[in-house]
Amino acid sequence: MKKIKANSIFEGIVIGKPYLRKQKEIKIEARSLRETEIEAEINRVEKAIDDTKYEIRHLIDSLKDRVNKNELKILNVQFMILEDPVFLSDVKNKIEKDMINAEVVVDRVIKKYIKMFKSLKDPLYKERANDVSEVGRKIIENLLYLTPEKEDVNDKIIIAKELQPFELLKFYHDGVNILGIITEEGGKTSHTAILCKSLGIPTLIGVKNIMFLDIEQDKEIILDSRLDKQLVILNPEEEILKEYKIYEKKYREFAKEINQLKIEDVKTLDGEKINLHVNIGGDIEITQLKEFKCDGVGLLRTEFIYMENDKFPTEDEQVKIYEKVYNALSDDKPLIIRTLDIGGDKQLGYYDMPHEENPFLGFRAIRFCLKNLDIFKTQLRAILRAAYNKNIKIMYPMISKVEEVIKANEILEEVKKELENEKINYKKDIEVGIMIEIPSAAIMAERFVDYIDFFSIGTNDLTQYVLAADRLNKLVSDIYDPYDISILNLINHVSEVGKKYNKKVSVCGEMAGEPIAILILIALGIKDLSMLPSFIPRAKKIVKSINLKDIEQYKDKILNAKNSKEIKKLINKLLIGVV
Ligand code: PEP
Ligand code: MG
Repeated sequence: MKKIKANSIFEGIVIGKPYLRKQKEIKIEARSLRETEIEAEINRVEKAIDDTKYEIRHLIDSLKDRVNKNELKILNVQFMILEDPVFLSDVKNKIEKDMINAEVVVDRVIKKYIKMFKSLKDPLYKERANDVSEVGRKIIENLLYLTPEKEDVNDKIIIAKELQPFELLKFYHDGVNILGIITEEGGKTSHTAILCKSLGIPTLIGVKNIMFLDIEQDKEIILDSRLDKQLVILNPEEEILKEYKIYEKKYREFAKEINQLKIEDVKTLDGEKINLHVNIGGDIEITQLKEFKCDGVGLLRTEFIYMENDKFPTEDEQVKIYEKVYNALSDDKPLIIRTLDIGGDKQLGYYDMPHEENPFLGFRAIRFCLKNLDIFKTQLRAILRAAYNKNIKIMYPMISKVEEVIKANEILEEVKKELENEKINYKKDIEVGIMIEIPSAAIMAERFVDYIDFFSIGTNDLTQYVLAADRLNKLVSDIYDPYDISILNLINHVSEVGKKYNKKVSVCGEMAGEPIAILILIALGIKDLSMLPSFIPRAKKIVKSINLKDIEQYKDKILNAKNSKEIKKLINKLLIGVV
């Protein structure tokens, strides 16, 4: 028996036979062309590109009504690469100049693109390198008339070095039931990880060297991607297997029960309401808004609307999107629109941000908006217009000083005046909030209360800035800990300021969807949590299983604990039998 630690992408317990997926190397042989063969070779590559486009388009069309727009975006990006005239002319010119066969040229051009994307710091572009590589492989397969092998992965756990989004969507399209996925590579924010999450496939990534292990394909393995376990068990002993079969059954029942909570309204056992909001990016998760009943949108990350576009979205385009999101929420539930949080790891393809040595400490979010007033004002106008007669609020990200809020509010007032003069309807008394994600704002929260209506704590950034540990850097991931006592004490401080001045305080960082964090935050007086839609049912299960009064008793113990390990141990006990 061998246990290997991994990183969980989507939680679950699966027992099944493995399918070791080794992607075959495509052998490409170079062949010199005669002058007279060049035209035919160019026709050949054009046809291979067209065939690849057809395959992708076909997959997009047939999946359109079955998966979220977000997932299809990955395929759309690949389609766009194939349509890029620069790519095609690069290939054609090289065939003409080097007088060499198309598959070698495509391979070289693709490698050049991959190198370029990989050299960029932004993880989004690094991910683009993956898309380019997948597209290149497909073109070469079509040039060589290679038909992908038929693979018997149905009801199996796929083990692979890496799995590409196209391959995963193809399996899904073909109705293949994938029990689970284990990969050697892939980041938590990779396209494949995002897909596994939304297709609900239990997945573990970062399982080092698993492809080199001696895995018997007809022997069951165990994939345990629950957050407190995150491991693969190969060759499990009879006893362990028996034990796990019980866990698996229980987990399946739990998943079923949780699923039923999707549309239920819940309260604590002592009748208190904990508001469970969702975080969404642009209009892409609208289907999920309908699927998971929640108390509102706690965070609309508008940068995704900007990132998906090929230019800055116009005022009218934005109004339409904000209204669409709001209309997907029923019963006048609140929608908090966060103004553009660009910079750091989020870049726009059509706008050159200045080069920065430390972009996370640099020119991002409100700092960028206050220096680019045309962009900021367009967005504020759009939000104010969309909010007319609706429960829509504004939130500024990355606030570090009171002066920034004062300045942003001044601009908001200017924009209101403009709309007034133009006789355009807008929400006059719109509520304004700030993200608490920079330590200075958390420490000095009290100084902000005269200028805002609510606080929303962004623990993703707050953690990286308090502990000086980059949220994307694996080397310091052990230091990056949102449960660190420093973070929890800061959250408590902001919570108390909120209580004292009657300002709502919510938490919208990733931790707000994690079971232990839900109880900790409730103990610290937070009654508004905002999380990914898929985490809502589990959060409801926790809320309906607790007495608020009991949880509140833990506040002092949490704040005075030695470290996060002690806190987790303490709170974990409360979750036994709940999740
Ligand atoms: C945060 O920092 O916690 C947050 C919610 O914002 P983002 O993850 O978009 O930076
Ligand atoms: Mg943030």
